[in-house]
Amino acid sequence: MNASPVAVPVADVAPSASTPTIGVLALQGDVREHVAALAHCGAEPVLVRRAAELDRVDALVLPGGESTTISKLLDVFDLLEPVRARLRDGLPAYGSCAGMILLASEVLDTRVDAEHLSGIDMTVRRNAFGRQVDSFETDLAFAGLDDGPVRAVFIRAPWVERAGPDVEVLATVPDGPAAGRIVAVRQGNVIATSFHPEVTGDLRVHRLFVDLVRAA
Ligand code: GLN
Repeated sequence: MNASPVAVPVADVAPSASTPTIGVLALQGDVREHVAALAHCGAEPVLVRRAAELDRVDALVLPGGESTTISKLLDVFDLLEPVRARLRDGLPAYGSCAGMILLASEVLDTRVDAEHLSGIDMTVRRNAFGRQVDSFETDLAFAGLDDGPVRAVFIRAPWVERAGPDVEVLATVPDGPAAGRIVAVRQGNVIATSFHPEVTGDLRVHRLFVDLVRAA
């Protein structure tokens, strides 16, 4: 017979606190990469395509992709108001690239009919880096991540043109023509990055988010 493990009484452990259920908005974009990163960080990732699925998550990731398409699909799938309502109620959220655009309170250079979610008080410019450098990689310092710079992959990325008074700037472009541009922010339990940590294998940004969800 196997020795029984020294059991922590079930009642002392809130399973949702140790293994938060984190939804990944799965309408379009690099959903699988976020699912894999979240699973590696000890969260339980679930796909969110309808309001009933949104209801059971502790947090939501908005992936990279095409913000105007995701915006349209949020409307088609009747998720626009449910996601806005949960964000207003304090749902922790993380958006990368197109996800950052969707979390903005104002978006420049987008379609007039594109919707956004106002999860962070910020103005975001879509495709901000322009044609010459529309995709590039760089190493950047990220507030709260002390063990070295983060490898940031930018793909037709936005930047934050205005960050509201309650928004903490987590990272800026270190050099080059876009030096100083804001590319990672946090307001309360909502974070956004212009770049895609989900494609680099560096899990620190996702780990930061999962820790934030656990603490929420
Ligand atoms: N340019 C895209 C948009 O406007 C974002 C690109 C990305 O998510 N990699 O939504």
